[in-house]
Amino acid sequence: MTGVFFRFLFYIILAYVIYLFVRLLLFPRRLSRRDRPRPRLSGMMVKDEVCNTYLPKDEAILDRIDGKDHYFCSEACRRKFLDERKAGD
Ligand SMILES: [Zn+2]
Repeated sequence: MTGVFFRFLFYIILAYVIYLFVRLLLFPRRLSRRDRPRPRLSGMMVKDEVCNTYLPKDEAILDRIDGKDHYFCSEACRRKFLDERKAGD
């Protein structure tokens, strides 16, 4: 009777291994989801001329000065740019 029992056990283990294998084939995305961060809608980088930093356009502060677009990483950089411009004049 032990032979029948071990055969039964063997089929349970085999079924479980097949179940794991099939699950892996059907849902491989679950494992790699974390590796793929959602890409930005606009991957464009702009330069802050004050501190020479490149940053995503979405996060930059845009100011049009004398018909030219200037990007800044922060309000402080924007003010610094305007102050230096004033001082130059
Ligand atoms: Zn800056």
